[in-house]
Amino acid sequence: MLIVMKPEATDEQVEDVLKVIRELGFKPHPMPGATRTAIGITGNQGAIDPTHFEILPGVGEAIRVSKPYKLVGRDLKHDDTVVAVGEADIGGRDPAIIAGPCAVESLEQTMEIAEIVASCGVKFFRGGAFKPRTSPYSFQGLGEEGLKILARVRDRFGLKIVTEVLDTETADMVEQYADVLQIGARNMQNFSLLRRVGTSRKPVMLKRGMSATLEEFLLAAEYIMAEGNYNVILCERGVRTFADHTRNTLDLSVVPAVQNRSHLPIIVDPSHGTGKRHKVIPLARAAIAVGADGIMVEVHNHPERALSDGPQALLPEMFVQLVEEVHAIHSVVSGQRSVVSR
Ligand code: PEP
Ligand code: MN
Repeated sequence: MLIVMKPEATDEQVEDVLKVIRELGFKPHPMPGATRTAIGITGNQGAIDPTHFEILPGVGEAIRVSKPYKLVGRDLKHDDTVVAVGEADIGGRDPAIIAGPCAVESLEQTMEIAEIVASCGVKFFRGGAFKPRTSPYSFQGLGEEGLKILARVRDRFGLKIVTEVLDTETADMVEQYADVLQIGARNMQNFSLLRRVGTSRKPVMLKRGMSATLEEFLLAAEYIMAEGNYNVILCERGVRTFADHTRNTLDLSVVPAVQNRSHLPIIVDPSHGTGKRHKVIPLARAAIAVGADGIMVEVHNHPERALSDGPQALLPEMFVQLVEEVHAIHSVVSGQRSVVSR
């Protein structure tokens, strides 16, 4: 059920509706919009009688939601969500660029890469301290020591830190250090982890599972939002197909598909999406051209020595060039987005 308040509804009238929803044993999710507030309701098993709400002052209409998701959809919130991360944002006017190594390997390596990222005017730094590796014998990340290094990057360069939360056991620790909590592709349907980050006050960047449909992707975001954390950023990072010239098949068509159904921002990761350095810049350009709200790319000062994902890491000079291109392409397409029907 979705309650759409009248444009002239007062804050008190909205509060009264929230109270009635709670008294019925459900959870209200108010979403203020440019012209009116809509309120999503979760926690109900069956259909709710709309007459509970239609009679309340300030209520415009009570609508049954036919889609499997309620909170991520544009029925509830028509306007694009802009996720604020301190004074930076994702989904706003400027394209968000998130860059850094696959993994935090040492203080020296991380600081050197962060200096390059910051010098391009980029606001977000990535780096894993807890790494989901296919082999148990591969480098698993520095753990808390890595998080401490990331905190030093924030202090020194003012970069916002995006880092992965691998499991519920380490979520409290990662939450203390991160500005944005990353949920990796392998965890997209780890429902207890999604619920855990749903209770966090930090924004969550949710990566698409490697065989997830659009609906499964959106429902994973719904898990986070249903717990009350509405600051979710989606990230396309490629899906698995028969193609063997590429690590994954980057599905750029999901960007307008997401934008059609959801108000959440979506960024693209062409590094994991391709697995090869020479493909990252072309696909990053394409991601911005297709209308993504930003990109996430891996950068390394010595990729030949990287402890993970060296072959897909951009060299510093490649990254510097990419940042310029992203801004140039974005300035061309941003004026066009409003005319593209969603
Ligand atoms: C990552 O971004 O560090 C990562 C592990 O990516 P993914 O979860 O998309 O494989
Ligand atoms: Mn990686």
